[in-house]
Amino acid sequence: MAKRDYYEVLGVNRDASEEDIKKAYRRHAMKWHPDRNPDNPKAEDHFKECKEAYEILADANKRAAYDQFGHAGIDPHAGGGAGAGAGFGDIFSDIFSDIFGGARGGAGRSTVFRGADLRYNMELALEQAAHGFETKIRIPAAATCETCKGSGARAGSQPTSCPACRGAGQVRISQGPFSIAQTCPRCHGSGSIIPNPCATCSGTGRVKLQKTLSVKIPPGVDEGDRVRLSGEGEPGVNGGPPGDLYVQVHIKPHAVFQRDHDDLHCEMPISISTAALGGEISIPTLDGSAKIRVPAETQSGKTFRLKGKGIKGVRSQFPGDLFCHVVVETPVSLTERQRQLLREFESLSAQDSARHNPRAKGWIDKMKEFFEG
Ligand SMILES: [Zn+2]
Ligand SMILES: [Zn+2]
Repeated sequence: MAKRDYYEVLGVNRDASEEDIKKAYRRHAMKWHPDRNPDNPKAEDHFKECKEAYEILADANKRAAYDQFGHAGIDPHAGGGAGAGAGFGDIFSDIFSDIFGGARGGAGRSTVFRGADLRYNMELALEQAAHGFETKIRIPAAATCETCKGSGARAGSQPTSCPACRGAGQVRISQGPFSIAQTCPRCHGSGSIIPNPCATCSGTGRVKLQKTLSVKIPPGVDEGDRVRLSGEGEPGVNGGPPGDLYVQVHIKPHAVFQRDHDDLHCEMPISISTAALGGEISIPTLDGSAKIRVPAETQSGKTFRLKGKGIKGVRSQFPGDLFCHVVVETPVSLTERQRQLLREFESLSAQDSARHNPRAKGWIDKMKEFFEG
């Protein structure tokens, strides 16, 4: 059976607020709670479905991953009844304590925890973010020690009952008239000790190592996007499922382009003569270069828009645009000859200044009005 859309499960819109989602979940979960539906075998399935949907949508990061990649972005194997009992606890206590007075139905749930989620920060160049990127990352991981198969004992030896507590894990100490039970300091409560610890893991049964993971960053990711690697987080406790690893994308500042969602912006300096006479200039794009025809009499601040030369975002249907902002550059390090030509140019312009410099003329007129009231 195809998994239902989480928003549909909770009966909320895709832009529902956190509060709306919480309310919807409360409503659905109360309706389907197994304790309230003892005769309806489907209630628990509905309840679990709501719970799963809420778990994802209530977590901003998971919700973003779900919005971005759908069920595939959440967990391809989720919802297979994993942790039916184990899972009830976590958000249950958060939301239901006030409804059911803190009483959790059903006894005998073992302490099974899902492993913690991990985050890996990845810096990408703008080009890598735009075009997609595949890489391998190394992350620290704990694994069962191969030498002792996790027992912690040296080959040929075995853990033995702790002599201090005789395997009870607790010792009683007397303080005056009182006798107090205390966790056994020798075995730390486990009841057994390892007389000959495994040399590889020093008796812990686990070894730290690095694992290498392949990460595929989809084209168009933006600052703050996350890519989820299902099950690559910390291992679960007592057979619980592992957490997930989130690769958090950070985008390095670019020398030329500033990104605004799917659009790119860049500055486009042009010379005084190009600005006045017009011309064709070559500008860089993320995929190479493009030519822009600058018309005569182009002013500073004019923006040229190159349609489709931006970035196609992960969630977008079409690429954004590239905006080039014209800055007319005042020439520097002039030779005497250049100065002379400019002075000559200026004296010619002065004969009909208002016509050649309409903006300066307008500005002067406004200033006059201001001072003369
Ligand atoms: Zn070992
Ligand atoms: Zn002990």
